Amino acid sequence: MAKKDKTPGELLQDKLAFKPENSGNLMSDEEIAGAIAFCEDYKTFLDASKTERACSDWVITLLKKKGYKPFNPDKTYKPGDKVYLANRGKAVILAAIGKRPLADGVKILASHIDSPRVDLKQRPLYEEAQLAMFKTHYYGGIRKHQWVATPLALHGVIIKKDGKPVNVVIGEDAGDPVFVINDLLPHLAKDQDKRTLSEGIKGEELNVLVGSLPFKDDKASEKVKLNILRLLSEKYAIVEEDFLSAELCLVPAQKAKDVGLDRSMVGGYGHDDRVCAYTSLIASLETPTPDYTWVNVLADKEETGSEGNTGLASRFLENFILDLAGGQKTEGRRVFEASECLSADVNGAFDPTFPEVNDKKNCAYIGYGAVMSKYTGARGKAGTNDASAEFVGKIRRLFDQSGVHWQTAELGKVDMGGGGTVAKFISNLGADVVDIGVPVLSMHAPFEVVGKLDVYNTYKGFLAFISQK
Ligand code: MN
Ligand code: MN
Repeated sequence: MAKKDKTPGELLQDKLAFKPENSGNLMSDEEIAGAIAFCEDYKTFLDASKTERACSDWVITLLKKKGYKPFNPDKTYKPGDKVYLANRGKAVILAAIGKRPLADGVKILASHIDSPRVDLKQRPLYEEAQLAMFKTHYYGGIRKHQWVATPLALHGVIIKKDGKPVNVVIGEDAGDPVFVINDLLPHLAKDQDKRTLSEGIKGEELNVLVGSLPFKDDKASEKVKLNILRLLSEKYAIVEEDFLSAELCLVPAQKAKDVGLDRSMVGGYGHDDRVCAYTSLIASLETPTPDYTWVNVLADKEETGSEGNTGLASRFLENFILDLAGGQKTEGRRVFEASECLSADVNGAFDPTFPEVNDKKNCAYIGYGAVMSKYTGARGKAGTNDASAEFVGKIRRLFDQSGVHWQTAELGKVDMGGGGTVAKFISNLGADVVDIGVPVLSMHAPFEVVGKLDVYNTYKGFLAFISQK
């Protein structure tokens, strides 16, 4: 409607009222094409990065190609230097040294590269009723009923008795077999149907089908299991005892795919949080000579609470920045106090099938851009970094000036549940932190969905953040 046709009330509304808009209405056709192209490469990354180990390997291979050097804590770095630190093959820090001194603070991007999955127990293999099976212990917040009757791939590492590692990936190549956790047939599910959904499949029922063919021998027992051990021995030169020192897990075997007739979304495993890992990584690689030093951490263990020496409740990020500061003869705590961080993690997207879990005015929508979450946590904002209005205001101005389409959201209705991110661990060091990420449908499911425009706007937001002058 032309401006002259509007009533005074409509004009006042335009001037005063806030009306969020789908970024699809705001972005140019060229920019939308750019977002779609960006997600083609993202799908390739997702397929190659289904575990934190695979993701870390993929990232480090790329960093080496781009001229990043292993971090030396005793060295004094100068502007334009690019370094990375690998933490046990499960987490990575990369950094580019800026023109400004570290005393001016660093710009931190912090995402996580672990995703919910199903781990094997340390004595996984058994035989029952002439079927070979694996016992498992799930990792992170999975809804167990979603992980049955779907093809799974086996990933991980086995450390043999002599200390040699064996890498395992089965189920990713077109010719590979896959694995599956079976469910009951509906005909005999009368009792199971009475269970609550969270108990529909119990933890000890997440047993994986591994084989059914017996080793031909009259005397040996558990011949199906024996045949599996024979195959593992032939392929990897391992014995059953080697599972004791293994980290093996099952992840969805399917590849990332476009979703919808308009191909506006990507479905795949592990968007949480590799979508933020990827967007922050690409933004970082495009900013090799920043004004402020940027530090990008791709962490492990977020899905189990960030505990452990590859998670952000540990000190590996803190120590990295302290070492950088030491190289410039700067007090580490001064660096943290002057630093800013975008905690790069996903938020839940509004699902019209389940509107009752969200406050429609304060939740994230597919297509409305990067999500800023001022706070996360549960109940009365417990367990959260609640970003200050001042810092939120600063990022708001930065995004608006940089043409980043973004929205604000909290995770669900008050008291509906909740969740946290790594934000609080970094704000505990003294930095200003706010959560920025991509809205996700079916979060933590084997096939999560994100919107391509949101992925692209999140990347643009991270780029604007680390390009600050
Ligand atoms: Mn996450
Ligand atoms: Mn998560």
